[in-house]
Amino acid sequence: MFTSGVWLFETARMLRMDRSDVNQRRAPAYASGVSIEAIIRGLCPRCREGQIFKPGLAGIIGLMNDECPVCGLRFLRETGYFLGAMYISYGLGVITILPGTTALVLILDWPLALALTWMVLQTLISVPIFLRFSRVIWLHLDQTIDPR
Ligand SMILES: [Zn+2]
Repeated sequence: MFTSGVWLFETARMLRMDRSDVNQRRAPAYASGVSIEAIIRGLCPRCREGQIFKPGLAGIIGLMNDECPVCGLRFLRETGYFLGAMYISYGLGVITILPGTTALVLILDWPLALALTWMVLQTLISVPIFLRFSRVIWLHLDQTIDPR
C-alpha cells in the first residue's frame, strides 16, 4: 500500500515536471519537406533550428541529443530506429568509394592490392562522416514520410 502511494506520488511529480518542461519551450514553426541545408548543418527535421548532435567533440564523434533542444522532437523513436540509416551509409559508401577505385584500376592501371588498400583507407576516413550524415538523412526522410 505504501509503495503504490509512493509510486503514485512519483508519477504525479514526473508528469508535473514533463508538463512544465513542455510549457517552457517555445513553439517553433514546423517546416515541411526536405531541406538540404538543414541536412548539411545537422538540424532537427521538424523545426530546423535545434542541433541533432551534441556540441563539440561529442557531436563530432556522433553522439546525439536525445531530443531536439528547441521543439522537443524525440530523435530515437524506438529501439533499432537507426537501422535504416545503415542502408543510407552503405549507399553513400558505394556511390563515393566504388567509382573512384574502379577508375584507379581500369584507367590508371593500379594493381588490385593497391586499389583495395586505397579503398579501405577511404572507407576508414569516410565512416564517421557517413555515420553522421546517414542519421541526419534518415531522420529527415522519416519526418517527411511520418511527421510527428
Ligand atoms: Zn526541433
